[in-house]
Amino acid sequence: MSLSIESSLVTPLLTGGKWITPKTTDFEEVYNPSSAQIIAYTPICGAKEVEEAVEAARTAFKHWSQMPPSKRSDILFRYRKLLKENFDDLSRLITRENGKTLEEAKGDIQRGLEVVEFACGIAELSKGETLPQIARQIDSVTMREPLGVCVGISPFNFPAMVPMWMFPIAIACGNTFILKPSEKVPLTAIRLAELFQEAGLPDGVLNIVHGSKNVVEALCTHPDVSAISFVGSSKIAKQVYALGCRYGKRVQAGGGAKNALIVMPDADPESTLRAIMGAAFGCAGQRCMAGSLLMGIDEIGDKLQDRLVDLMNDLNITDTSSDDTAEMGPVIDKSSQMRINKTIGNMVAQDIKLVRDGRENVPEQGFFVGPTLFDQITPKDSAFSNEIFGPVLSMLRPKNIDQAIEWQNSLPYGNGATIFTNSGATARRFSREINCGMVGVNVGVPAPMAMYPFSGWNDSFYGDLHLQGAEGVMFYTRQKIVLSRWDDSYERHLGW
Ligand code: NAD
Repeated sequence: MSLSIESSLVTPLLTGGKWITPKTTDFEEVYNPSSAQIIAYTPICGAKEVEEAVEAARTAFKHWSQMPPSKRSDILFRYRKLLKENFDDLSRLITRENGKTLEEAKGDIQRGLEVVEFACGIAELSKGETLPQIARQIDSVTMREPLGVCVGISPFNFPAMVPMWMFPIAIACGNTFILKPSEKVPLTAIRLAELFQEAGLPDGVLNIVHGSKNVVEALCTHPDVSAISFVGSSKIAKQVYALGCRYGKRVQAGGGAKNALIVMPDADPESTLRAIMGAAFGCAGQRCMAGSLLMGIDEIGDKLQDRLVDLMNDLNITDTSSDDTAEMGPVIDKSSQMRINKTIGNMVAQDIKLVRDGRENVPEQGFFVGPTLFDQITPKDSAFSNEIFGPVLSMLRPKNIDQAIEWQNSLPYGNGATIFTNSGATARRFSREINCGMVGVNVGVPAPMAMYPFSGWNDSFYGDLHLQGAEGVMFYTRQKIVLSRWDDSYERHLGW
């Protein structure tokens, strides 16, 4: 959108170590979702800025890729220290531009910080293998080498964690990086890059461009870009994956989800209720691992419902940027708020039983939607398989665990699913039969820690190597095998 704006609020780009305000008249507004006030403007860049960022990253790669891994680790260790020192300010910045609560924002930074800690061990993580005497006088050595210029495109819902699934590992491996943060939350990305510079990262190793479709397409098709990491909705993930692959890039693309919480009659009621509340309404339901389908087996569904409504009514829903006691914040923007409210209205119109209406009793200012509960939805309803990405929990009544597993497995997605039970045998069977990459047993949000890959399946992920963990290191490196023959007269004496 073309706006007349206050220039001090324009978010800069980072190209070759320099912060630049691009010459554009096209901007997206960045809001504090709690107050609906504009706090910044994201410039929508074009081909020129993409070209400059790629050139800066390409130039920096020549030196950075040759730096010994232990020296790269030195910078990562300093970065970790600075992130810890700035933990509180970063968390408050996330709260301000994303709207999540302070506790949730701390979790966002903490998860990213853990990836940096993982990446500090890059020397150990990227070691190759040696097999001497693989044939007569021939030794075999494998080595992992960086790819070149890598690109990261991130969503709005985790302004720190998701970009940090990407750039710390890519850079630790010896690549240079261009981050295209969500245009809705550019400020955290800027601060993360400033701190990395302060830690001693050389110019051009991390660059930032802003924009949306055009910039993403320019990055995905650029001949000097080697790899693309994308996280966002499934529709765009699929497009980015197809486009990047068509242009010969290595691509990993995380998409959306619909995750079931299945409750067995033997589950511990109180801890299960707490886990359901966190999974369904944490981050106002804007999580790819949000539990959005609740399947209670037998009479447990009825037992849960009343207590759940009490807990939903008790949530302190307020301005997260000024009140540290807030337990639930707003959704990201006006259009999300309107889309979620419209979905609730459509579900009501389809005669799905509305138990608690989140359109009511929420702060008037800001983009709030309260916790919402539906009952008696069925797999035939569109709300069963559509990702709502808001605080809407839908209850289903499967006959038994077989039907619950069958329903979850019929979804196009495959991010997460959780079972609540006290039976090891039931949990084991569920873990083996469920078709998704991240499984919880009495854990509401089974999101893996930094040393494991974030393992979506089906339409929740396109690619082969996932983000984070050892798969992240494999994604950002390629393997070389060196076979060497050194003639040795001693071996010739042995007659081999
Ligand atoms: P989104 O798909 O709208 O945007 C993601 C990124 O793609 C942004 O940087 C955006 O600028 C860019 N983009 C938008 N439209 C584009 C287009 N037409 N072509 C190319 N790029 C485009 O997603 P969002 O609304 O920012 O984030 C929410 C979604 O992300 C949800 O579906 C959620 O489940 C998903 N998500 C997935 C994971 C995961 O690990 N699988 C993690 C977090 C979020």
